[in-house]
Amino acid sequence: MPTKTKQKKIEEHSFQAEVTQLLDLVVHSLYTNKEIFVRELVSNASDALEKFRHIQLVEKETFDDKLELEINLTTDDTAGTLTIQDFGVGMTHGELVENLGTIAHSGSKAFLQALKEGTGPASELIGQFGVGFYSAFMVAEKVKAYTHSWQKEGEHLLWTSDGVGSYQIETVEGQRRGCKIVIQLKEEDKDFSKADTIKDILTRYSSFVQFPINLNGERVNKIEALWLRGKNEIKEEEYTEFYKFQANAFDEPSTRMHFSADAPLAINALLFVPKTNMEKLGFMRMDAGVSLYCRKVLIDDKPEGLLPDWLRFLRGVVDSADLPLNVSRETMQDSALVKKLNKLLTRRFLKHLESIAKKNPEEYLEIYKNFGIFFKEGITSDFTHREQLGKLLRFESSSTEKGSLTSLADYVERMKEDQKEIYYYFAPNRETIEAGPYLEAFKTSNLEVLYLFEPIDEFVMSHLNEFDGKQLISADQAEVQIDDISQGPGEPLSRDEETELCKWIKKQLGERVDKVTGSKRLVDNPAIVLNADKMISPTMRRMMKAMQEGVAANPKVNLEINLSHSLIKNLYSLSKTEDELAIQVTEQIYDTALVAAGFNEDPRGMVDRIYQLLEKVTQR
Ligand code: ADP
Ligand code: MG
Repeated sequence: MPTKTKQKKIEEHSFQAEVTQLLDLVVHSLYTNKEIFVRELVSNASDALEKFRHIQLVEKETFDDKLELEINLTTDDTAGTLTIQDFGVGMTHGELVENLGTIAHSGSKAFLQALKEGTGPASELIGQFGVGFYSAFMVAEKVKAYTHSWQKEGEHLLWTSDGVGSYQIETVEGQRRGCKIVIQLKEEDKDFSKADTIKDILTRYSSFVQFPINLNGERVNKIEALWLRGKNEIKEEEYTEFYKFQANAFDEPSTRMHFSADAPLAINALLFVPKTNMEKLGFMRMDAGVSLYCRKVLIDDKPEGLLPDWLRFLRGVVDSADLPLNVSRETMQDSALVKKLNKLLTRRFLKHLESIAKKNPEEYLEIYKNFGIFFKEGITSDFTHREQLGKLLRFESSSTEKGSLTSLADYVERMKEDQKEIYYYFAPNRETIEAGPYLEAFKTSNLEVLYLFEPIDEFVMSHLNEFDGKQLISADQAEVQIDDISQGPGEPLSRDEETELCKWIKKQLGERVDKVTGSKRLVDNPAIVLNADKMISPTMRRMMKAMQEGVAANPKVNLEINLSHSLIKNLYSLSKTEDELAIQVTEQIYDTALVAAGFNEDPRGMVDRIYQLLEKVTQR
């Protein structure tokens, strides 16, 4: 006779496609360093408790409100299970679907993106990102998450999955507030159901969790705020572990700054520069990553405004006893105190970088290579720190070897006595700059030129405008005054011939050139165009053109000709006899000079002309 049981409702859900993809990888390709799943789950538990602590401050009514804010782990090596329970915020039905059925975690998203872009093999990438909750499936045959939300009207729920394609949600009465995750371990991973194994992992990974952690009823961590301890008492490994914990990072920090002050503000700060720049690798814009605490209590883990935007790559903690404890995240952003903290921290951090650059240039260059782009962003966006940031810039130059960098300060040291300006020139690489016509005059006059390779560099220079009282100026500016160095083989054209030829060329080129003159700055090249428009460089022009219609492709330029160059001398004779060829040659000289300047964007006319000229040459 069939017994009548109450039909239990079990809902079947499919994972979002990306989750399935991620889980497949987690289960099949990632065998190294499995133990990180413990750290991921404990950090989720700690996040959930932290969230609850905030909710408690604003909500009168919460479910199961007498519970301690703690994390309890239980091992059972007979059953082969590991259980991690927290009394944090828990999840509602909707939150279960959203958080454990889709990819909410930005790290996992970045991870998948990296995989798609083929940045590296999965096993290496996972080390850089972590996959959060899903990492449990590295070791789990089945994961059960029992939960009740902090909200009184929440349900008593159980989420279950074996990590293949789908998960189930059902109602199971009797849950406490928070989340209890039970991991049924795979046969080969049963080691994680042994107390000793887990204890060992916890002592390494979780000593900075700001809530009590108990393993089988015994307390394993002592809660301490590393940033409040004296520098001398802290071991190198402790700093590194703290960084990994706090930034949820897998790399090691490339530098750190730990300082405290009593005046003008009571402040303890521990800031880290990571080793990898995720934005540079092509991932989405980073969130601010320095948490704000007041006397060990977390106020906000991503506070806007605590540091300038261009310092968003920093990780760490700032603790100020001057903050009112009940400060809300909303009001905090505009508070005068946060502005003061921002100013103080930024100045200190920039000083810290300067001192590394001085004491340990190699170490600084490593940081600069990864994060220099942020300093440049700062120069273009943050007027207050522009000058200090200028000191941090590094470039190749005509006085450095290929690949080694110099600072603006060192450039100034090397300046000739009567030199008033700092020169730079932008091109995609060193070879292009050195082969082009712009460097000739500077080289011959012994004037150093900084080489700019990144498109943003010209903006940076024009925003910085000057350094140490010296104007920063592009080598292709018409206004640059340099000594007369022109000296080709043989006699140059006479003054009269020069005037005559220049007039003739100007007539041919018309409005396309502002002025045509004999040049003082050419040696091997027959002609050069100079930017007559002081503020707008070729790169900027291209960007402006991309952004708005109506900006002419070619800017106003001056054409300078090398009066000693045989081509120019030939042109002079030609201009009197064979007019049509002379015009074509003039047009070609102009176009070629534009190309050398990086201006010419529409080479079609030029291509036809070159063929015609070649035809004439081969007719001889
Ligand atoms: P992340 O922690 O980076 O957000 P995870 O994959 O680790 O990513 O977790 C996904 C989401 O699941 C979390 O953002 C959180 O909303 C939810 N979650 C995970 N563990 C818990 C927990 N113990 N209590 C409450 N919510 C949790
Ligand atoms: Mg997490």
